[in-house]
Amino acid sequence: MSGNLATVSYIGATILFILSLGGLSNPETSRRGNLFGMIGMTIAVLATVFGPRVTAAGYPWIIGAMVVGGAVGLYAARVVKMTQMPELVALMHSLVGLAACLVGFASYIDTSAPLAGAEKTIHELEIYIGILIGAITFSGSLIAFGKLSAKIGGSPMLLPGRHWMNLAGLLLVIWFGGEFIRAHSISEGMTPLIVMTVIALLFGIHMVMAIGGADMPVVVSMLNSYSGWAAAATGFMLSNDLLIVVGALVGSSGAILSYIMCRAMNRNFISVIAGGFGTGGGTPAAKGDAAAPVGEVVPISATETAELLKDAKSVIIVPGYGMAVAQAQHTVYEITKHLREKGVNIRFGIHPVAGRMPGHMNVLLAEAKVPYDIVMEMDELNDDFPGTDVAMVIGANDIVNPAAQDDPTSPIAGMPVLEVWKAKTSIVMKRSMASGYAGVDNPLFYKENNRMLFGDAKKMLDEVLVALKS
Ligand code: NDP
Repeated sequence: MSGNLATVSYIGATILFILSLGGLSNPETSRRGNLFGMIGMTIAVLATVFGPRVTAAGYPWIIGAMVVGGAVGLYAARVVKMTQMPELVALMHSLVGLAACLVGFASYIDTSAPLAGAEKTIHELEIYIGILIGAITFSGSLIAFGKLSAKIGGSPMLLPGRHWMNLAGLLLVIWFGGEFIRAHSISEGMTPLIVMTVIALLFGIHMVMAIGGADMPVVVSMLNSYSGWAAAATGFMLSNDLLIVVGALVGSSGAILSYIMCRAMNRNFISVIAGGFGTGGGTPAAKGDAAAPVGEVVPISATETAELLKDAKSVIIVPGYGMAVAQAQHTVYEITKHLREKGVNIRFGIHPVAGRMPGHMNVLLAEAKVPYDIVMEMDELNDDFPGTDVAMVIGANDIVNPAAQDDPTSPIAGMPVLEVWKAKTSIVMKRSMASGYAGVDNPLFYKENNRMLFGDAKKMLDEVLVALKS
C-alpha cells in the first residue's frame, strides 16, 4: 500500500471514529456508533499492517501477536459476565498503559534512525512523558481492577503526609526528566528513565488506593482518559498520526466523562484525585460514624408487591447494581410491558453512577428492549416522586440513600440521589440489609412508607410477574 493510500485510509478511519463517538452519545444511535468504530478500527489496522512502514519481515510477528491478542479477546468476550465488564475495562486500560511504557523503552534504545539537536530533545521528551503517563495508567488501572473485583478493599488508604509524598514525587520526576534529557548515552539516560518509571508506578498505586468506594466511578473514567493520553503519547513516539488522533479522542472524551461523573457525584475533581474526599477531613469513614438509622424494617411479599403495582397509576423503577447481578432486566421488561398494557404510567429513573460503569443500566435495559422514551435521567425525574404511587428499587442502594442529603458526616454526603422515599410507597428489592458499594447504612430501609422485598431480584420479580398475571 502506498504512503498516500495509507494516509487517506487514516483520515477515513479518523472520521469513522468521530462518527462512532457521536453515535455512542445516544442509545438509539449507539449500535450504528459501534459499527462505525469497528469499521474504522479494521481500516486502521489494515492500513498500518499493509502500510509503507511495515516490511515483509515483520508479518510473522504481527500475525503471531494478532492471533494471541485475538484469542485472548475472544475468550474474554465469551466468558466475562456483564457484571465483570468494569473490571475487564480496567484491565484493558492497564494494557494500554503497559504498551505505552514498552513502546517508550523500545523507542529509546532503538538506534536505527539517530536524531540530533532539537529533534532528539523533542523525541526524548515524548518518550519521557509517554512512559510517565503509561506507568501511572498501568499501575492505577491494576489497582482499580482489584477494587472493582473486590480483591482489594473499597475503603481509601490514606497515608500520613500523602499530599507531600505526591508533591515530592512530582518534583523528583521533573528533576530526573532534566537528567534524562541531558544524558549523553542511552545507558546514562536509562537510570533516570527507570527511576521515573518506578515513581510513576508507585504514584498510580497510591492515587487509586486513596480513593474511597463511592468515588470509584470518577477514577474509572479518569483512567479511561489516561489510557487515551497514553495511546496518544505512543502515537508521538511512533510518529503515527492516527494513534495520536485516536488517543486524543479517547483522552478528551474520558476527561469529559470524568467531569460529568464529578458533577453527578457533586465532587470536586481535584479533591477526588487527591483522595479521601468525603471521609471527614482525611480519615477513613469508619462504619457507624454516621448516625445509625432508626425505625422499623417492614418486609413485603411478592404477592403484596403485585397488589400494590396493580392499584398504582404511576410507577418509577430505579435499577441498580443488584439488577445486573441477578440479570433481572428481562423480567423487569415483562413487568413493564404488562403494567403499560394496563394503562400504568411506568418510567425508569437512572442515576449516573448506578451499577459499576457509566451507562451500565442503560445497556442492560436496552438489551431487554425497554423503550428508550421511558428511561429517564435522575434530574428529569426527581421532582416526580411525590406524585408517584410506587417507586420500585431493584438491587440499588447507594443511589437511593437519603443520608447523602440528610447526614453531612456520611461518606456520600452531597451526592445527588433518587428521592424514592417521596413516593407514596417505595419498595426495595435486595437480598439482605447489607450496604452497597460505598459501605454506608441506608436509612431508606427504615422509613415508614418503605417496604423491603427480600430475595434475589430475578427470583422475586418472576414471582411478582406471576402474581400480576394471576
Ligand atoms: P450498590 O452497590 O450501592 O447496591 C447494590 C445492591 O444490590 C446491594 O446493596 C445488594 O444488596 C444488592 N444486590 C446484589 N446482588 C443482588 C441480587 N442478586 N438481587 C437483588 N439485590 C442484589 O449499587 P447502586 O447501583 O445503588 O450504586 C452504585 C455504587 O457503585 C455507587 O456507590 C457508585 O459510586 C459505585 N460505583 C459505580 C461505578 C459506575 O461507573 N457506575 C463504578 C464504580 C463504583 P444485598 O447484598 O442485600 O442483595
